Amino acid sequence: MITNNLSEIYKRIYRAALKSDRDPKDVTLLAVSKTFPLDKIVEAVDAGIRFFGESRVQEAEKKIKVFTEIAENKGFTNVKWHLVGHLQTNKVQKAVRLFDLIQSVDSVHLLEKIDQEARKIGKIQDVLIQVNLSEETTKFGISEDSLIDMVKKAYSLNNVRLQGLMTLPPYFDNPEDVRPYFKRLYEIKREIQRSGYTIYHLSMGMSHDFEVAIEEGATIIRLGTAIFGER
Ligand SMILES: *Cc1c(COP(=O)(O)O)cnc(C)c1O
Repeated sequence: MITNNLSEIYKRIYRAALKSDRDPKDVTLLAVSKTFPLDKIVEAVDAGIRFFGESRVQEAEKKIKVFTEIAENKGFTNVKWHLVGHLQTNKVQKAVRLFDLIQSVDSVHLLEKIDQEARKIGKIQDVLIQVNLSEETTKFGISEDSLIDMVKKAYSLNNVRLQGLMTLPPYFDNPEDVRPYFKRLYEIKREIQRSGYTIYHLSMGMSHDFEVAIEEGATIIRLGTAIFGER
């Protein structure tokens, strides 16, 4: 089941990358496993997936704990966990212990807290800044206007390493309608790079619009239902 879904997804990634003159290897497939049980995650690792995204710290904590035992028995290596959901400051201590990449950093305060907790355990925490391109008050993410200050802040901290940007645009039935958001995030990344900051990742694109995201420069696509089925 997951194997079949994946072979279809890989074909689509390949086609979208070729269409936009990109190397398909530059697109990391993140399997968003939130709400899916551990046996699905194990099945996905068996099928070759190594990157998993969770949106809640508590759910991830339980899964990762049990997964780590299974992984030892099965000899799974190099499995990485990303946080893609909103992070509350009171969960930061746990988050820096659990996640290889925190994709949802959306305030300077949170960034400072992550730096502080990472320092306590001698870690340099990889992060992405979540950008809110639609100014929807209901969605998390930092506005374009405050972004450059946040980038500067990230660079001034010793225990966070800024790897790039993430966005979660509004939902459209037609994936073409989301293209301007992906284009904009790519432009913003270029502007930041021109200001002298070496960020690389663009995490954008989900199950229903990942091809458009790849065409516009996504380096991480976040797929849940396309891999695991409906929630
Ligand atoms: C759930 C989720 C996804 C995956 O969504 P699908 O539509 O199932 O592919 C991607 N990114 C974030 C931030 C999510 O919360």
